[in-house]
Amino acid sequence: MSEVTVDAAKCARFGFCEQEAPGIFELRADGRLGYKSTVPPEDIEAVARAVKVCPARAIRLNRAGSRVYMPPQQREEAEGRSGKKEELANVTGLRQRGNR
Ligand code: SF4
Repeated sequence: MSEVTVDAAKCARFGFCEQEAPGIFELRADGRLGYKSTVPPEDIEAVARAVKVCPARAIRLNRAGSRVYMPPQQREEAEGRSGKKEELANVTGLRQRGNR
């Protein structure tokens, strides 16, 4: 099963997600956003559309058996924020033979 999360600090309650995936997201009468965190396979594409249309970039979809799905802007922010891409490459690099 895939999982979805909404960052409550980013969500501005525009409701676009509900329009794309009404079976998963619901903008309640009290103004709060409710959502199902577990996404059945038949709703994955609708949730992926919700991720794309969310103006606040508040939704993350973690597809089962795959990496976290993020729109390009969000991915760049995450990579830029961590700055660990090069560090990880160095950590996982093998020692060269004869180089002690
Ligand atoms: S579209 Fe984004 S900002 Fe709007 S209610 Fe949904 S999660 Fe919140």
